[in-house]
Amino acid sequence: MVRDIVIYPDKRLKLISKEVTQFDTELHTLLDDMYDTMISKKGVGLAAIQIGVALRALIINIPDSDSDEQPKENTLEIINPIFVSQEGKEKHQEGCLSIPGIYEDIERAKYVKIEYQDRFGKRHSIEDDDFLAVAIQHEIDHLEGKVFIEKLSILKRKKFEKEWKKRSK
Ligand SMILES: [Zn+2]
Repeated sequence: MVRDIVIYPDKRLKLISKEVTQFDTELHTLLDDMYDTMISKKGVGLAAIQIGVALRALIINIPDSDSDEQPKENTLEIINPIFVSQEGKEKHQEGCLSIPGIYEDIERAKYVKIEYQDRFGKRHSIEDDDFLAVAIQHEIDHLEGKVFIEKLSILKRKKFEKEWKKRSK
């Protein structure tokens, strides 16, 4: 089921999400709804707080390089992630379904390794130094109540806020 996306500057985006302790059907429905919602907006990642649920759960689905499709089985479901390694620096253009239409170059670690749980509570680890690494860092920021525009310089942030106010009228 497609749910409403929480749009900036909604205060819920500042919440620090809580650890998932129940790996039950309620969590599975949440993850399924997150997928439906993300796909409906042509997104590549979504954190639970973006549909108003303050739990440490996020999904990422990077479109297939040939078909551009995002089949559900390609969805990476990441619960209770923790960084075990972050190295290097790189800039990538980022966007966010909670700040639609805004794209900015953001500097983040080039390489990351995380440990996390899947929808059944099983532990995994994953590492990447490409677009997935960017998506992981962007989505984990949401769990900490942060959005990507907070990483902009003061000047660029001011420009964004002005532009955003204009658009929201
Ligand atoms: Zn986002």
